[in-house]
Amino acid sequence: MKALVLQPDRTLRLVHRPRPRVTAPDDVVVRVVQTGFCGTDRGVLLGKFPAVPGVVMGHEAVGEVVEVGAGVTTLAPGDRVVANPTLYCGLCRWCRRGALNFCLHKAGNEIGIDRDGAFAEHLRLEERFLHRLPDGMSYDRAVLVEPLACVMNNLAAGRLRTGDEVVVLGGGPIGVLVALLADHAGARARLAEPDPYRRAAARTYFAGIPGSAVTVTEPDLVAARSAALVVDTVGPLLERACEIADDAGRIVVMGFHERATATLRPLDLLRRGLSVIGAGDYNSHIFVRAVELARDLPLEGIVSHHVRLDDFADALDTLGIAPGAAAPYSGMKVVITTGGGR
Ligand SMILES: [Zn+2]
Ligand SMILES: [Zn+2]
Repeated sequence: MKALVLQPDRTLRLVHRPRPRVTAPDDVVVRVVQTGFCGTDRGVLLGKFPAVPGVVMGHEAVGEVVEVGAGVTTLAPGDRVVANPTLYCGLCRWCRRGALNFCLHKAGNEIGIDRDGAFAEHLRLEERFLHRLPDGMSYDRAVLVEPLACVMNNLAAGRLRTGDEVVVLGGGPIGVLVALLADHAGARARLAEPDPYRRAAARTYFAGIPGSAVTVTEPDLVAARSAALVVDTVGPLLERACEIADDAGRIVVMGFHERATATLRPLDLLRRGLSVIGAGDYNSHIFVRAVELARDLPLEGIVSHHVRLDDFADALDTLGIAPGAAAPYSGMKVVITTGGGR
C-alpha cells in the first residue's frame, strides 16, 4: 500500500509498505477513506512537536472495516468507523483510575506519532479503538470527531458555563471547534486569529450556521480583562491569555508547542485569582460522546480541502509548511484522501 512516512529530516515521503493484516484476535484492518491533517502533524514537520522517524503519520482517520480478527465481536467488514488514536493499556495505575489520557504506556502508543498511523491506504487497530459511525454521518463530518473530543475535554476542564465570555486564540480547525462548541453551550465566543485567510474562512463558516453568535476578530483587538475563559489553541500565547482573562478567569493551554515558554508572576495569578489549566488531549471515555455530539454539529464545513495521498505536497503548501519554516495558510482543515468514496 501507499503510505506517507516521516523522514529523519522531518519531511514526508510517499513509500510502498506491506498492507497491514490481522495478527491478534482483536485486530481490525480498516481501508482508510480519509485522514485529517492536524496542527500537531504540522508541528511535527516544523519541529514544534516530537515524533519518531519511520512512522506512517496521520491520526484523524475514518474508513471502512475490511478485515477483523477471530475475537472481534462489535465490528464487521463493511462497517464505517472513526479511529480513536489515543491508545491506552487499561492496566497501569492511571488507566485503572480512569485517567486514560495519562496512561503510562501512552508513549509508543500514539498512532501517527510513534506507531504507524493513517496517511496510508490501510490502518490496523485494536477493536476497542474503533467506533462505528451513526447511520448517515458523512466521512467529512466524522473526520472531525477526534479533534472534537479534544475540544470537549478542554472546555470541560476550563469549566465552561452558559453566558461566559470566551476568547479563543487561534482560528484554525481547533479554534473554530472551540468557538463552535462554546456557542453551542450558550457562551459568547470571540475567535481571534492573525491570518487573514483563516479569519475570512472562520467568518464564512459561522455566518452559515443559523443562530450562531460567534464573532471573529484580530488578536490585537481583544481587550485586556475581557473574558471569563481564554483558550490558547496555538501554544505560545499563555502570557497574552493571562492579560485577556478577567479577574477570576480560567486559561486553558491547548496548543502543542514543544519550545514555547512563558513568564508569569505568581503574585498576579494569586491576586487576580487566575486558573491556568492544562487538560491534555482527551480521556477516551469522551470519544463515544464526541461521536454522538457530532450528530448535532455542522463539522463538515470546517473541511476546506481534500488532497489525494499522491498529491500530499499540495496539502503542505495549503497549510504553509515550507522546508524549515512556516508560511501563510490557504486552507482550514485539509484531509488526505486515499481515493475511496466519502
Ligand atoms: Zn489531531
Ligand atoms: Zn495505561
